[in-house]
Amino acid sequence: MKVLVINSGSSSIKFQLFQMPEQKVLASGLVEKIGLPNGDIHYKTPEIQHSINLEIPDHTTGLKKVVELLLHPEIGVISHVNEIENIGHRVVHGGSNFVKTTIITQEVKDKIRELFSLAPLHNPPNYTGIEVAEEVFPHAKQIAVFDTSFHQTMPEVAHTYAIPLKFREMGIRVYGFHGISHQYVSGKALEFLNNPNAKIIVIHLGNGCSMTAVQNGESIDHSLGFGPNVGMIMGTRSGDIDQAVIFYLMEKMQMTSEEVTHLLTKQSGMLGLTGDSDLRQIEERASQGDVQAKLALNLSTYRIQKYIGAYTAVMNGLDAIVFTAGIGENSNVIRQMVCEEMDYFGIEIDEAKNAVRSSEIRDISAANTRTKVLVIPTNEELEIAKETYSILKNQEKVS
Ligand code: AMP
Repeated sequence: MKVLVINSGSSSIKFQLFQMPEQKVLASGLVEKIGLPNGDIHYKTPEIQHSINLEIPDHTTGLKKVVELLLHPEIGVISHVNEIENIGHRVVHGGSNFVKTTIITQEVKDKIRELFSLAPLHNPPNYTGIEVAEEVFPHAKQIAVFDTSFHQTMPEVAHTYAIPLKFREMGIRVYGFHGISHQYVSGKALEFLNNPNAKIIVIHLGNGCSMTAVQNGESIDHSLGFGPNVGMIMGTRSGDIDQAVIFYLMEKMQMTSEEVTHLLTKQSGMLGLTGDSDLRQIEERASQGDVQAKLALNLSTYRIQKYIGAYTAVMNGLDAIVFTAGIGENSNVIRQMVCEEMDYFGIEIDEAKNAVRSSEIRDISAANTRTKVLVIPTNEELEIAKETYSILKNQEKVS
């Protein structure tokens, strides 16, 4: 079965075509700068890499161009558009409506639309991706895989805010995000540990950052909340901040809510602390003695340590911590700082193992430590393909 995975953003479409259940990537790529005069399409198969520069006025044109490449007599991987029978879409916000992956119907689309106000930057372009795929592949089954679904197992104590019932009934609660990544990585970790009931903490550190406490394979607590700016210090987002700061800025500085949102989500985090949001530059500057860069590394790793403490407490134990995403997979500096003086939690890393660069799953903990420290590359596209494949297989069994 071929599964096309689509991750549609406001000006981009990421795609990967899988052969399932073999999990083989037949082709992948990115359409970017949709709506701008100078669009780009990057297309890759196991044999070739190909880029095209052209104007892509809208998502439909972008996806049609992808189909042309997939069908291309020399670099294509399919011979007829109808070979694409199943499409898995990433949808960021499923609210409380979607606790699992769902076959898309008109009713499902209406519900995704209702959630636009909760994820105004993400759900509208995700929705566009679905509509465009329906137009380009009218015969294909369309499946929605939600970033929030994995966190729907969180208990009431973890997802409830202490506000009056009237507001809780409006749907104001912790939803969490990055769920597709946390689901993939925690699944891999439990497999690696050969223990489906292990108590683990997944630390997703990329431009966006989040942590999940996972017990018996389920998310039981998570650092992102109603929105995606809470918890860790991120590339441009502040993470945890006292709400009094927001009201102070609005009242004393006469900043509008848009201005405060822009400050805390686009100009804060590592960027606000150092002027750089890319961790490689910050590490480079810190190694040359830059005081602000050192402070930023200290603040972000301190925050992660605090959450490790909190999640160990709520799980009453800890078997492993798992680093993933751009920073988690690649920065031995951050991993080392997070694991420093954490022997109380049974966390200690082997410096030589931590320094190894690899795209494989690896255990970097020191010998005989109580808690494993793992590095697991995330793969959200593969998780979407797996979810899509499994819902369709289950459907086949039922019918
Ligand atoms: P992501 O959002 O998962 O793509 O992660 C992006 C972040 O990963 C950026 O802050 C990058 O600086 C960081 N990153 C990628 N490669 C490295 C590396 N080799 N060392 C340190 N940070 C890295």
